[in-house]
Amino acid sequence: MTNWEANVLKVEPYTPGEQPKEANIIKLNTNENPYPPSPAVEKVIVKFDVASLRKYPDPCVTDLVEALSKAYSMPMDQIFVGVGSDDVLALSFLTFFHGKKPIIFPDITYSFYDVWANVFEIPFETKALDEDFRIRTEDYFCDNGGIVIPNPNAPTGVLHPLDEIEEIVKKNPNSVVIIDEAYGDFSGVSALPLVEKYDNLLVVMTFSKSRSLAGSRIGFAFGSKKLISYLNDVKYSFNSYTMDRLTIQIGKASLEDDAYFKKCVSDIIETREWTKKELSRLGFTYPDSKTNFIFASHERVPAKDIFEHLKEKHIYVRYFNAPRIDNYLRISIGTKNEMEILIKTLEEYLK
Ligand code: PMP
Repeated sequence: MTNWEANVLKVEPYTPGEQPKEANIIKLNTNENPYPPSPAVEKVIVKFDVASLRKYPDPCVTDLVEALSKAYSMPMDQIFVGVGSDDVLALSFLTFFHGKKPIIFPDITYSFYDVWANVFEIPFETKALDEDFRIRTEDYFCDNGGIVIPNPNAPTGVLHPLDEIEEIVKKNPNSVVIIDEAYGDFSGVSALPLVEKYDNLLVVMTFSKSRSLAGSRIGFAFGSKKLISYLNDVKYSFNSYTMDRLTIQIGKASLEDDAYFKKCVSDIIETREWTKKELSRLGFTYPDSKTNFIFASHERVPAKDIFEHLKEKHIYVRYFNAPRIDNYLRISIGTKNEMEILIKTLEEYLK
């Protein structure tokens, strides 16, 4: 090994879902929203003052923070904005998980958490979900250096009851508890009202799923004034101009079109419930999903075989070759038409 290589940070990176180049595929592998963003977003893009790009954007992202403040009835100094919730989560790990004690999160969860813990050299321990993929609340009543829980969880889709989330936050006043609500809008449940009661709670959300803006990279978090100010200190010590001028306006426009947002979310929930019934009819089982995806396993046919067959038919779903979940497929909810094609393809294959 060369000398310089001994000084390199060596980590195993997160593997994002495939973004295939082929046209005419049904893409149900990265939990994107099948609908376009609000028409208000297109208007902003068309009218955008390109000449303004010569200037740096607002480091405080004020227009978007203001719009979030209005939409969620939260004071502006309790809101943090980042480039996708991955950015918000990574900065939160860096800011709040700085102790010697291990941070804790579920064994089956968003596979970025252990990657951030490794890259920032944060010790961590995982807590096993029960056989039904549920979080065991008591597991989080131990000494720890911080807690992160996605609710609903990914890739399982399981929602943990809010009163138990509150118990976890309450029993850990000496740790920051991050609740990752990337899929929260599809569950109808949020820990946001608890932010007022607990100054150690950070609730993280994203525009990527429910607002059809994965391509724009907008994430945000709500927390006590103190948490948000510490997060901003780290952000400004790292990169002040994280969000570009156009994205700030896109986010604002999307938030202002509440009717469109609600309609998309309710259509996806309706299609999810239809898909669940159809999957059951074909011999699949799944933990009850409160997200925009279903984590399904077939009674007879291995998940990997189904995954490969679907790919041949130009339908992409997500397969994780990992302990406990290697016989499951994570299927994002597409349009009704896409899900009908998926079900028909599965039906023919499983015959
Ligand atoms: N949290 C969870 C649980 C996720 O599944 C994702 C999406 N991969 C994210 C956070 C990050 O989403 P984004 O950076 O697009 O906001």
